[in-house]
Amino acid sequence: MRPPDQSPTSLFGRSEYASGPVRTVTQLATPPLPRLAPDGVFDAFGWCASGELTWGRRAGGFDAAAEVTSANPPEMIFVLRKDAPFLPRERAKLHAPGMGFEGGEEEAKEEWALAPWGIDDATDALFEHRAEPSEHLWLAASSITSLFWGLHDWAHFHNHGPFERRAWTELQCDVSALAWLEVNRAVLEAIGVDEGVRERVRREVTRVAEARFAEETSEIDRFDASLLGAERVRAIARELRASQMD
Ligand SMILES: [Zn+2]
Repeated sequence: MRPPDQSPTSLFGRSEYASGPVRTVTQLATPPLPRLAPDGVFDAFGWCASGELTWGRRAGGFDAAAEVTSANPPEMIFVLRKDAPFLPRERAKLHAPGMGFEGGEEEAKEEWALAPWGIDDATDALFEHRAEPSEHLWLAASSITSLFWGLHDWAHFHNHGPFERRAWTELQCDVSALAWLEVNRAVLEAIGVDEGVRERVRREVTRVAEARFAEETSEIDRFDASLLGAERVRAIARELRASQMD
């Protein structure tokens, strides 16, 4: 992973690698998953291989009990590492207060984040510009629901599709996020995301995924709960861990 732009005039990525009094920063392994969705759901599956995600959370304040629903997660943002006019942005402090994104007296030093309403646009823009997600973004998330949706979006950023078969597109990202929670379980167990929490999240995500398929009008897009089954997710995670050791 490349270091952030550290030129003195940069407004981006000023402190991401520093765990400090207000935030804890770690690296999550996000090895690419095999494609589970049928042919044609994605037009550029794995156009950029996901490797690692830099993840920051509020120091001492991770919420492992939060429920995962289809609602937008609170305080989940992708912080911009560098200037990228093609990515819609808002000030990071607006969406994740108390994590050190405020620039103090100098407004210009406040950090930027991907606008929370711009995730879909960013998925397209990163692909169109062949802009590697890890060079542009890192995740700030302080609850299990924010972390899950952050990982889900991280999968979107690496797998482009026309989004016409929405339920399948989303399911691929759901499985990716669940598998990455398993892959990083050692890091996560230290902050209360144990096997019970992961299983509870998996069940909540399964309900969200099933509801999406119920909204599909296409007869061919039927929900297959086994794709999100506990044993299936663990098996994928084992394969990913093994691939990392190669
Ligand atoms: Zn999604």
